[in-house]
Amino acid sequence: MKNELKVSMERQLKIKYGVSIEEASKGEIFSSLSSALMETIIDNWNNTNKIYSKGKQAYYLSAEYLMGRALGNNLINLGLYEEVSDLLKELNIDINEIEEAEEDAALGNGGLGRLAACFMDSAAAMEVPLRGYGIRYSNGLFKQYFKDGFQEECADNWLTYGDPWSIRRERETVKVKFKDMEVKAVPYDTPIIGYDSKNINTLRLWKCEALESFDFHAFNSGKYAKAVELKNKADDISRVLYPNDDMRQGKLLRLKQQYFLVSASVQDIIRSHVKLHGENFENLSEYHAIQLNDTHPVLAIPELIRILVDDYKLKFDNALKIAKGVFAYTNHTILAEALEKWDNKLIVALFPRIMQIIKMIDTRFINELKRKGYSKEEIEEFRIVKDGVSRMANLAIAVGFAVNGVAKLHTDILKDIELNNWYKLYPEKFQNKTNGITPRRWLRLCNRELSHFITELLGDESWVKDLSKLKELEKFINEEEILKKFMMIKHTKKEQLAKYIKETEGVELDPSSIFDIQIKRLHEYKRQLLNTLYVLDLYFRLKEDKNLDIPKTTFIYGAKAFPGYRRAKAIVKFTNEVAKLINNDKEIDGKIKVVFVENYRVSYAEKLFPAADLSKQISTAGKEASGTGNMKFMLNGAPTFGTMDGANVEIVRESGEENNFIFGLTVEEIEEMRGNYNSKEYYENNASIKRVVDSLIDGTFDDGNTGLFEDLYNSLIEEGDGYLLLADFESFKKAEDRVFEAYKDEKRWAKMAFKNMCNAGMFSSDRTILEYSKEIWNIKQTKNTL
Ligand SMILES: *Cc1c(COP(=O)(O)O)cnc(C)c1O
Repeated sequence: MKNELKVSMERQLKIKYGVSIEEASKGEIFSSLSSALMETIIDNWNNTNKIYSKGKQAYYLSAEYLMGRALGNNLINLGLYEEVSDLLKELNIDINEIEEAEEDAALGNGGLGRLAACFMDSAAAMEVPLRGYGIRYSNGLFKQYFKDGFQEECADNWLTYGDPWSIRRERETVKVKFKDMEVKAVPYDTPIIGYDSKNINTLRLWKCEALESFDFHAFNSGKYAKAVELKNKADDISRVLYPNDDMRQGKLLRLKQQYFLVSASVQDIIRSHVKLHGENFENLSEYHAIQLNDTHPVLAIPELIRILVDDYKLKFDNALKIAKGVFAYTNHTILAEALEKWDNKLIVALFPRIMQIIKMIDTRFINELKRKGYSKEEIEEFRIVKDGVSRMANLAIAVGFAVNGVAKLHTDILKDIELNNWYKLYPEKFQNKTNGITPRRWLRLCNRELSHFITELLGDESWVKDLSKLKELEKFINEEEILKKFMMIKHTKKEQLAKYIKETEGVELDPSSIFDIQIKRLHEYKRQLLNTLYVLDLYFRLKEDKNLDIPKTTFIYGAKAFPGYRRAKAIVKFTNEVAKLINNDKEIDGKIKVVFVENYRVSYAEKLFPAADLSKQISTAGKEASGTGNMKFMLNGAPTFGTMDGANVEIVRESGEENNFIFGLTVEEIEEMRGNYNSKEYYENNASIKRVVDSLIDGTFDDGNTGLFEDLYNSLIEEGDGYLLLADFESFKKAEDRVFEAYKDEKRWAKMAFKNMCNAGMFSSDRTILEYSKEIWNIKQTKNTL
């Protein structure tokens, strides 16, 4: 294998770049090695497709896939990591440097897109016939850097040096029609390699192109700009990922993107169905299940009906009945600002036929409700089309055969509160599917030291695809030598992170300090500001009392703010200002340090999670649907410091409340308080709170006269502190005291961390994907035996 790969790599370097291995740059080595690996997997890939097409398949429709890098993960899944590492070493090349040369594929914002990526990996490893469909954005999520502590953005040109992990399938191009234009959707297929398996699944991403890239008539008559106009208009559709997370944005181009994705994907599914089973659609749901990742791809429902009615001449009611057997919908959030509603005028302007079909679905649905005895007023709440807008979640629940939340608490809130009327109408549709993360990327790849240790203790590597086996490690909980080794590995990962942060951020960290880490998209509900206010209070207390007895602590942040989200950007700036004040104060003797890392992304995450002592998950209870970052920390042996929100609830149930640091108001307590919360009382009656909140307006910090800090002050005091930061402040502070107390006792801390790792098994996305397969899609694990 080694020699074969080397020969293939040399050939690739010659064809693509005209260089030898000695002359090649790191990027060129990455690219040629990746292409050489592609060559070795093509047969398994084609065979997997062949086998899958015989039975029922599921399709994951998602506007986002936050894949990160491919090379390292693929080497792990192929079982070739050590071999390739040795091969490169013989050539005087460090495999780490080659991995670092790969750009992240950041075709997603945060948790929702990363979940889609974890599901792809798990489906392949579990030999589940699942295919992903998405958009091949030319520009992924923006890159972030700081200038004077302010967030700045620049474009992410991830394709500049090509993408060796995809194949353009020209022949499988489909056409997508809008009212005013027709475009090509060209599929780019990426292999999703199953860990320790011959199964290779497919992620198919569509690129939008003009039917003809160039208008020759215009060109010949000297109208150069006109000649490229159509091309640009088509390119626009898959040009850029919308950088908003949990926020609706009623933009025409975004709606175009959504329809482009679903039209191409549904056409592709129907084409393959017709090829395999003929023009018979009564059996569509016997062969296909389509999962809608949030409401972004919900237009797939009317699009399928359109194709069946207009292209294959089915009756509308029959087409609707067929659609009802095919679609299932995942809800990811209860934040009102995230629920998509499209202006009917936009829909009509882009695809009038789709509007007609949505209205027909709405009419049939009203009739059903009438038959079931609902009153006129009650029916209004369920309407798909209402007040000039189309409500995508309503469309998905009315037609889909299953609706799921992404953590137990989240699903309960949907059933009991947010979607209670729907739950009463269709109780049988509602399910819970607690999110998960892939143990390949989030342990086996990113923490090889810990992985090897686990394998040593368990005797083999089977835990990598059966994560419940970690539970067996609990029997070592009182063995000092084992805990010592476990904590030594943690220290090694902290040293590695400290070295990387020194190189990239220029900040020196002490690996023996507590690494207290909050990494996730920046949003008010995630409450990075609460963390920063706490840190500032701790600093003030240290200034007052030099002998304040706390272990040395490093507070680490990583987060991108949506470029148009002023308050989120204010929190970035404020945290950077607090960091500057604290890090430059010699008086506190480096007892606490703060660093906000630039450009948090999957590849950075892989360095941060393994190095964490503490996982900060501090959202206002009821606001975080699940979270998956919390699971990555747990798997790498970090206790959770968090509220009873999202999957934190299940994390604590699995590992024990005594091994985590829970604080803050619960969902029930917040419900009870409704309308009676007065943040000013907390501000006026608590000197700590007053001091840190006042720092926003008393000149302690400089926001460059932008008014940003005053706006943060107003959000807490004048606008009522909607996310309850001040209500949870004291409880947060007490929980941190418990952290310091626990950390001082090395043995106790080691046990808490170890216990978390041992109980992370249920948060494998392998478990999640098998639940979707059995309980929603009704598909079977199918081994590639060819
Ligand atoms: C896991 C992950 C997320 C999701 O984090 P949460 O804490 O669950 O919001 C976001 N971004 C990246 C890069 C991730 O790896």
